[in-house]
Amino acid sequence: MNYDVVVIGAGPAGAIAAKYAAKNGASTLLIEEHASIGSPVQCTGLISTAALRECEMGEGNFVLNKMRGAFVYAPNCEELRIEGKEVKAYVIDRKIFDRALVERSLDAGADLLLRNRFIGMEPGKISVISNGEKKDIRAGIVIGADGIQSSVGRAAGLPRCEKILSGIQFEAPYDAKDPEFVEIFTGNNIAPGFFGWAVPFQGLARIGLATACAPATYYLENLLKHPVVASRCRGSCTELVMGGIPLGASGKTATEEVILVGDAAGQVKPTSGGGIYVGAVCSRIAGEVAAKASRKETKLSEYEKRWRSAVGRELGTGMRIHKSLGKLSDENLNEFVAFLNKQEVREVITEYGDMDHPSVLLQKLISRGDKRQLIKLFGVAIKTLL
Ligand SMILES: Cc1cc2nc3c(=O)[nH]c(=O)nc-3n(C[C@H](O)[C@H](O)[C@H](O)COP(=O)(O)OP(=O)(O)OC[C@H]3O[C@@H](n4cnc5c(N)ncnc54)[C@H](O)[C@@H]3O)c2cc1C
Repeated sequence: MNYDVVVIGAGPAGAIAAKYAAKNGASTLLIEEHASIGSPVQCTGLISTAALRECEMGEGNFVLNKMRGAFVYAPNCEELRIEGKEVKAYVIDRKIFDRALVERSLDAGADLLLRNRFIGMEPGKISVISNGEKKDIRAGIVIGADGIQSSVGRAAGLPRCEKILSGIQFEAPYDAKDPEFVEIFTGNNIAPGFFGWAVPFQGLARIGLATACAPATYYLENLLKHPVVASRCRGSCTELVMGGIPLGASGKTATEEVILVGDAAGQVKPTSGGGIYVGAVCSRIAGEVAAKASRKETKLSEYEKRWRSAVGRELGTGMRIHKSLGKLSDENLNEFVAFLNKQEVREVITEYGDMDHPSVLLQKLISRGDKRQLIKLFGVAIKTLL
C-alpha cells in the first residue's frame, strides 16, 4: 500500500482531515484501531451550531436534542439562567455522528482500514498491527488524529499539551427543569478547577464533570449529592464514560512529514473542554496543507501558521480564563455568579454569549460592566484583555 497522506485515527478530526486531503487530490488512507467507528464514546456530545456548520453537517439523525440556554449554579446554589434567542447547541449521538463524518471522507475518495493499530514510523512509511501481524504502509505525509494519547505525536517527538483534565460521566433518567437547557455546576467540592454538567435529552441526561484533581470518581459522588442533581436524577446509571481532556495546545504540531490534529494536538477549548469545533477548524486546514505538501507545493509548517492564526488567539485567551477561573474559591464563584446574574449583565450575555468564543463575551463585559469586580476576580487574565 502506498498513499500520499495517511491519517491515523478515525474520530472527528481524522475524518475531516482525510476528507480534505482526498478532496484536494491526495491519495488518502484513514486508519482506525477499533473495529467500529465512534466507539467507545468518550464525550457528552454537546456541540454548538457553529461546530456542526464547521463539520459541514446538517441536522442529521445524530441530533438527540436542541439546546437554547443554560442554568449555571453557584456553589451556594444561586441559579443563573442564560437564555439564547434561538438554538445554540445540539446534543448528539457521537457514534452516529462520527460514522457520518467518516462516510463523508470515503465519499471524497479516502480509503478506510479498521482494526489496524499504528505502532511506529520511519521516513516514508508507517507500521501497523493488523490481525496480530505487523504490516508496513508507505506514507508520504502522516496526520496524527489519534486522540489524547497520540502515539503518532510520541513517535514524531512532538510535545504534549500543557495539561490534562480527568472527565467522568454517566447517563441516567433525569427530570430536567427545562429540557432545552444545559445545567452547569460549579464549586470546589464538585469539580475543582473546572465544572460539572447535566445535559438532558429524551428523558435522560449525561451527568458528569471534569477536574484536574484526582480521583474524579470522588467528585462524581459529590455531584450526585448536589441538591439540584439529587432532586432530578431518577434511577441508576446506564452508561459510564471516563476520559482525558487535553488543555493548552502543543507548542509544535508539525514536522517535515507529520501533522497532529484534534486532541492529539491539544486543540480543545480550555473554557469548556469541547474539542469538536476547534478540531474541525484545524483538521480542514491539516487536510488541505497535507495534500499540497504531498505535491511539494508547500511545507507542513504552513499548517502550524494557519491553524494558529485561525484559533490560536482564542485558545490562548481561553487558557488564561481557565487558569483564572480555576483559582477562584467557592466564595469568589458565588460572587461571580451573582455578578453575572445582574439584569444588565445578563442582557450582554444573551446578546454576545458564544460557547466557541468566550473571549468575545468577556471583552463586552469588560467594556460595558463594572471592570473593578471582574479584575478583582480574574486578575491577570482580564488585564491581558483590556
Ligand atoms: C467526558 C468527556 C466529555 C466531552 N464532551 C464534549 C462535548 O460535549 N463537546 C465537545 O466538543 N467535546 C467534548 N469532549 C472532547 C471530545 O470528545 C474530543 O475533543 C474529540 O473526540 C476529539 O476528537 P479527535 O478526533 O481529535 O480524537 P478522538 O475522538 O479521541 O479520536 C481518536 C481516534 O483515534 C483512534 N486511535 C487512537 N490511537 C490509535 C492508533 N494507535 N492506531 C489507530 N487508531 C488510533 C481512536 O480509536 C479514536 O477513534 C469530551 C471529552 C470527554 C473526555
